[in-house]
Parts: sequence; structure tokens; C-alpha cells
Amino acid sequence: MLPLKEKDRPVVQALLKAGCCVRCVLRFCCVELQSTYRQPCKDLESELHSFAHTEECTETNPETEDAQDPPCKRLKLEGEGHSVADGQGAVIVPGPDPLHAHKDESEVCVVCLGVLQDFCDRDFAKKMADIVDSAGYQFSSLVVSVSLPPQLSVREHSTWLLVKKEVGQKGLCLGKDDVIQIKEAYKWIIHPLISAELGVPVDGKSCFEVSVVFTHPETDGDCHFLATVCSDCFKPAKNKQSVFTRMAVTKALEKIKDKDFRNQFPCPPCHPVTKCIAQDISCLHSPIFVAGRYNKYCRTLPQTPWVIDGERKMESSVEELISEHLLANFRAEGFNFSSSGREDVDVRTLGNGRPFAIELLNPHRANFTKEEIKQLQQAINKSSEKIKVRDLQIVTRDAVGHMKEGEEEKTKSYSALIWSQRPIEKEDIDFLNDIKDCKIAQKTPLRVLHRRPLAVRQRLIHTMQARFLDQHHFTLHLRTQAGTYIKEFVHGDFGRTKPNLCSLMNTVTDILELDVESVDVDWPPAIED
Ligand code: ZN
Repeated sequence: MLPLKEKDRPVVQALLKAGCCVRCVLRFCCVELQSTYRQPCKDLESELHSFAHTEECTETNPETEDAQDPPCKRLKLEGEGHSVADGQGAVIVPGPDPLHAHKDESEVCVVCLGVLQDFCDRDFAKKMADIVDSAGYQFSSLVVSVSLPPQLSVREHSTWLLVKKEVGQKGLCLGKDDVIQIKEAYKWIIHPLISAELGVPVDGKSCFEVSVVFTHPETDGDCHFLATVCSDCFKPAKNKQSVFTRMAVTKALEKIKDKDFRNQFPCPPCHPVTKCIAQDISCLHSPIFVAGRYNKYCRTLPQTPWVIDGERKMESSVEELISEHLLANFRAEGFNFSSSGREDVDVRTLGNGRPFAIELLNPHRANFTKEEIKQLQQAINKSSEKIKVRDLQIVTRDAVGHMKEGEEEKTKSYSALIWSQRPIEKEDIDFLNDIKDCKIAQKTPLRVLHRRPLAVRQRLIHTMQARFLDQHHFTLHLRTQAGTYIKEFVHGDFGRTKPNLCSLMNTVTDILELDVESVDVDWPPAIED
């Protein structure tokens, strides 16, 4: 038994007559019982048609008349394509049965364009499952996403107006939101089928998405009239091939007056010749984030690939040395590297290293044990002398935010090899060691001016510790606010950093080598070896 009520009968009749498939009829009758949609089309059809026809018998049944006020008189009067009443005000004339007019099973539904007819059976679920299997992903659940051609919304709206008319005549109230969406009905049917084929549950929160994109070229032009009525809804956007996105079409349909719509688009919609095409079935795994800390022991290794005018300046980079292993093991399609600050190509990063995070895009494998991640870290460390990684771990997207939080307020420690024009005396060393929380003003350095805006930034040199090497050389340990340009502080950058080491020591000084000794960001958490 279909969960339909007497009041649904005129709606069912009108929709069948208009050329709706059985499942679309159920949707517009707001049937929320999922199992109903899963019944085979054939069964639904015979049940629905017998439900629709029962009316002819109950027409004169006083009981039903009392209860439900059968609407068939008007239905037949207004049956546009079947003017059986020919102005005579004739009443109970059965006439040519409009309910059988589009009974042909091969007929494509005027609303869903076949989506709820031909693309939600076991065969189609099997086709999807085969594509998923051959894509080679590791997953334990899945979520199905469905993309429908935007013009389906226009047809849905047209059909809705038809239903509204039927319902309105009976003085009943039905909101458009009560109608079951095509996507929702589709998922109710396809979920158990695909779940059975793949042997994993469907879970709305799954990281693994199987998407089906339907198109229907025949009716692509159906929504174009909306642009003339609601031009402000259709603004050209970057990355969009067409202005007729589902979103824009939905917005326009909310704005358009019923009368204007009816003037421009047939209601009910006209009959399509072809059904939808399942244009694309594809899989996507949400990104995995891997974090850790890296040391860089080489003065000819940039952090990220160094390319000028399409030409590579250095053969490798920190991010490549780390991510090539991750890409291979997670079988990901790409990555985004981020870190807590960065060092110049000629600067080493020592101590506990610099926090970094790598977003791995569309990984085909996502589950790793702690032991496997440890082995991965070892593999990275074995592969190059130039870098070393520690605390490698899988983290959440949110956790990556911690790395960037309060970056400017953090402290960083450096070690620099300094050359001095004037011979260094013990007083110089003592003088430098006594300086505490020295405020400096740094104009954007000349060397980065091409990529950073010109500004003056206040920075703090918390402490300095100098160690004499020879008359013209000493090492300088600095603890500074993050974001301080150390090289510029030492040579002064033509007076753009004030004060600077030259002005403090009253001589010319230059920086020969620089190492980052520590980046004081307590993320990611340390991992025991
Ligand atoms: Zn349909």
C-alpha cells in the first residue's frame, strides 16, 4: 500500500497526466517513507495507477465526498491537453482517460529527466561501485554527492506550480519545502544499493566522497529565460563556465512571480526526448594533514622551489624533500606546504627545528598506524643529508591553525657569524651582552621589497650574546621577536633598520653566516622516539 491519502489523489492524477515518473509523484505528495521509493518502478507504477483510478469509483461515494471533496470535476475541466468538457460545464464525464496518456514506461519523466527512473537501480549502483573499485582508494565508509543539471530546478518549479494549483483549489496548504527533493529521494534509493555493492556503510560525515554528475544537454537552454527576468541573479563569476549555476537558478526561482514564470515556461514542463546522462562518476578523499618539525643543514637549499622566470635556481627544496615521500605513501595527488615562518636559502635551521604542516590532496590511502608514520619519518631522514624531520604525525585541519596563531608574538633564537671592520675589543663584547630588549624599527628590507609592502615594523631584540673569535670575527646569539630581519639588523640595510649593529658598535659589520637555533612554537606536540 502506498502511503497516500485521499487528498493526494488529484495531485497524483495531475502529475501522472503531466508526465511525471512515479517517484516524482511520491515526492510531490511529500511521501517521507524512504522504503516506498526503493520499490521497483513497475510495482510503484501499477500501485499508483490503481490509486489514481480508484477515484473514478469513489466519485459518487457520499462517504468520501463528505470527507475529502473529490476534485476530479475541475481536474477534467482544466485538463488543457484533453478538453473533454468543451465548455459545457459537463461534470462527471470520464472521457479519454488522461491518466493513461503517458503511461508508456520508456517515457522520460518531465521533472527528474530520468534520474529517478534509470539511475537508481542495482545496475547503476554496480556501475558506480566498479568505478570506485578501480580508483583504488582505501575507505571504510562513503558519502554520495549528486549534482543535477540546474534546469531541473526550473522543471521542479513548473511542476510545483501545477501542484500548488491543484492543492489550492482544495483550500489545502502545502509548502514547497515539504516536497521531497530529487537529490534526497535519489539518495534514499541509491544508498543501500551502493552500500551493499561496496560493503561499507554510507555516512554523511565520511571523508570519502563518491560523486555523480548528471547533465541533460537537450534542456540546457531551459533556464536561460530567467536571465531576462532576474538579470541580477546571473552575474558572471570566475571559475564558472556558465552563469546558470544551480545556486543562481534557485535564487531566480525564489524571486520570479508565478505569473511571469508561467508566461515564459510551460507548466507542466514539456516532454523531453532524451534522459539525463551520468556525465561523471568520480571519487574524492578529503585532505589529510601531516605535521612535524624540520631541520635544514644546508646553505644552498630553499624552503620552497626557487623558480625565476620559469627557470629553476636550486635543484631541490625542503618541501619537496619531505613531501615526495608523503605523496607516494599516501598516494595523494598534490600537496600544500606551510610552516611557522621560513628561513632564507643560505640559513640553516638547527635545534628542535621549524614546525611545518603538509596538506595532502585527495589521498588514496589515509589510515596509517603510529609505527608506519615513524617508518615514514625514518625514510625521509635516510633519503637526504640536507634535512631531518621529527615529530611527524597526522593532525586535524583545525590543529594546523595553531601553528600560525600568534606567530608574530613568538620568540626565535639565532646564531650569526659576524665580521667587524674595526678590531673587536672586550668592551664591545660586554656592551653587546648587556643590551636587553632593544627596540628596533625595520623598514621593509630592500631584498624583499618586491614581494612585501613597504612598512616600518617595530621589533624587539630580547637579548644578545657575543663570543669573540678573532679580531674581526665574533659569533652573536640573538633572541628576538619573530619576524625580525636579522641580516638587516646586522648590516643596517642602508639605514633602513635603526638602530643596527653598525650604529651600536660604531663600525661597519656584516653577517657571514646565519642559523636559526630555535622556533618557539610548541606545536606539533613532541613524539617519543
Ligand atoms: Zn521523475
